[in-house]
Amino acid sequence: MQQSLIAFGLSTEHLVSIPPDFRVENETANAFQALGRRAAERGLDLRVASAFRDYDRQVRIINDKWTGARPVTDGEGRLLVRARHDDEEWLNLILRFSALPGMSRHHWGTDLDVWDASAVDVDYRPLLSPFEYGPSGPFCEMTRWLDELMAAHDAEGFYRPYASDRGGIAPEAWHISYRPAAIKYQDMVSAELLIPLWRGEPDARGNVHEPLAMLEVIEPKVDHLMERFVAVP
Ligand SMILES: [Zn+2]
Repeated sequence: MQQSLIAFGLSTEHLVSIPPDFRVENETANAFQALGRRAAERGLDLRVASAFRDYDRQVRIINDKWTGARPVTDGEGRLLVRARHDDEEWLNLILRFSALPGMSRHHWGTDLDVWDASAVDVDYRPLLSPFEYGPSGPFCEMTRWLDELMAAHDAEGFYRPYASDRGGIAPEAWHISYRPAAIKYQDMVSAELLIPLWRGEPDARGNVHEPLAMLEVIEPKVDHLMERFVAVP
């Protein structure tokens, strides 16, 4: 039971804190420290923009994007307008950059969004946009350094699960995953277990969660969504 709770972001017992105030899985924390030391030797200042995120937070993000209470943008950071898209289109636009609750790799504590503080001003806030990590963006050097390490399988166990566009999720150069720990959770995500949670039924511990606002759009195509958004090598 513990492992499936972790897989859906319903457990925090396996997490430790890393600076400034993020939570990650224990082994991931050690590996990330090692990666950070090696980055520093290259003059890079590897920082975390996002780490563990729980199920309830993901529900709030997705529901707010669905209603328009939270902005939805395209790959270039342009704001999209709810009224210009039908329900199905809107869902697909949201899911390019946000996972459905229970289907985010950030639930596991093994995945981090990273940036390089040495390349920008002290008050810079990373947007996690493809431009920043591209050839003329500030984090280009960090991206290239990670590319090299990962190509040589020498990145302290980290890899990029979203390195290429798989038709569903946009490629995310900033998202790295600690494979030895992540591999335990990626096959546990199933529609059978998620749909009751999305309906607002109690989880394995008896806790109740906010239902998904767009459940009737998701349910008829849940198998397709699982295939498109979950299957990661
Ligand atoms: Zn991420």
